[in-house]
Amino acid sequence: MDKKLCELIDKLERTRSLTCAEYEYLIAHRSREAADALAKKADSTRRQIYGNAIYIRGLIEIGNICKNDCLYCGIRKSNRNCKRYRLDTGQILECCAEGYALGFRTFVLQGGEDAFFTDEILCGIIRSIKKCYPDCAVTLSLGEREPISYQRLFDAGADRYLLRHETADRSHYHKLHPPEMSFDKRMECLRTLRETGYQTGCGFMVGSPYQTAGTLAKDLKFTEEFRPDMCGIGPFIPHDATPFCNMPAGNAELTCYLLSVLRLIHPPVLLPATTALGTLDPDGRKKGILAGANVVMPNLSPLSVRKKYELYNNKLCTGDESAQAKEHLAQTVQSIGYEIVTERGDIKNETNKIP
Ligand code: SAH
Repeated sequence: MDKKLCELIDKLERTRSLTCAEYEYLIAHRSREAADALAKKADSTRRQIYGNAIYIRGLIEIGNICKNDCLYCGIRKSNRNCKRYRLDTGQILECCAEGYALGFRTFVLQGGEDAFFTDEILCGIIRSIKKCYPDCAVTLSLGEREPISYQRLFDAGADRYLLRHETADRSHYHKLHPPEMSFDKRMECLRTLRETGYQTGCGFMVGSPYQTAGTLAKDLKFTEEFRPDMCGIGPFIPHDATPFCNMPAGNAELTCYLLSVLRLIHPPVLLPATTALGTLDPDGRKKGILAGANVVMPNLSPLSVRKKYELYNNKLCTGDESAQAKEHLAQTVQSIGYEIVTERGDIKNETNKIP
């Protein structure tokens, strides 16, 4: 392996930090050998903290109505062909009941930015879930809201919030989003979430249009400095009804490479092997776990709406992506030496680390 690459991997493992220029080198000069070396270190780092446990989250897509027009996203408001839906409280609770019986102890409520979901409505939903399932964590992934709103949802019992920063490079951010969206606002929301007390997740797509090794290096540096509790990364996959319909999809190998790097940057971070990774590569989930991921988020949405939450073409929602197929997923995970566990799966901070 390239001597410099070798040194950078060692430095990363020792210090948990590289400069932006070094991250860029690590990405631009990656090789099969480097990927294997990183995955090996990432795996042992993860095992020291989490053993062979893989945490599962039941993903409930509560609605695809969205006021935003992100250029990459299939449920952007300009997509007139998207069949819109929203779940009511009863439907969401039914999903939780089914998920609980299947062994899920975290429910992730994800959706577009939809004014229908006021604080009052969401607080009601969160309180109901927490009342029925006090041993479960509730994670929200509902985009940008006001600080007071994040506070109210937290007070109602929400534990975690996922808000991908999408890219840590300002000018890249503006190539992916319409002018009315703001890079500063997104980053501010992440800081507010953290200060409010949520376990907070950031993240980015791999291979999004106009992304470079330089912008990815900034994503890694941002993650290093922000020290999120969770970090969601998955390959960009084009959607036919978006301006990026003809852009190439991201790369599964690079996604896995970055999962390993993220594990080494911040050992306790919860890293999902995402649906997008599983959609791009039939073995994506397995490869993601082997590279350092320790979370999977199978789909718990009602079957009748699953196809409608189409962020990108051919998004998987059946097979191992389906919560109902948990036993099969458990076998898949077991076949590579890991174990699906029925636990909330909160972040284990350094203080809990097994020496
Ligand atoms: N409205 C919420 C949830 C967004 S959907 C929010 O703003 O956070 C969750 C994630 O899906 C997004 O953050 C984005 O990174 C990812 N995503 C959207 N379109 C995608 C595409 N075409 N390919 C891959 N991932 C995509």
